[in-house]
Amino acid sequence: MRAQEVKMVTRLQPPKPYRPGTGCYLEDLDWEVDFQLLESGRPGRMDTKALALFRDGHRCRKCGVRVTCGNSEADHIVPVKRFANLQQANVPTNVQILCLACHKDKTAASR
Ligand SMILES: [Zn+2]
Repeated sequence: MRAQEVKMVTRLQPPKPYRPGTGCYLEDLDWEVDFQLLESGRPGRMDTKALALFRDGHRCRKCGVRVTCGNSEADHIVPVKRFANLQQANVPTNVQILCLACHKDKTAASR
């Protein structure tokens, strides 16, 4: 008997359609991080933001509007100045996603 004579059956399932912004795709998170590395203003901060965006479901924590990385801010719940260094302030539990308007309001109120 030769290998070519063995009948083979393949059961391939097509992948589910990718619909960005409709669910929790870990792939989205990976892409987000890759993009941010290229345009990072403050190094080390963008991983935290991407994680916070994912965790908060791409919504502003204050008003609930849908946001993307480009129109949101990673807001420190407890201000950075209360910590010894930026790394301590950037722990995921201290970072929340706010839309630009809510972030502006919060920044204005805390001054
Ligand atoms: Zn908001």
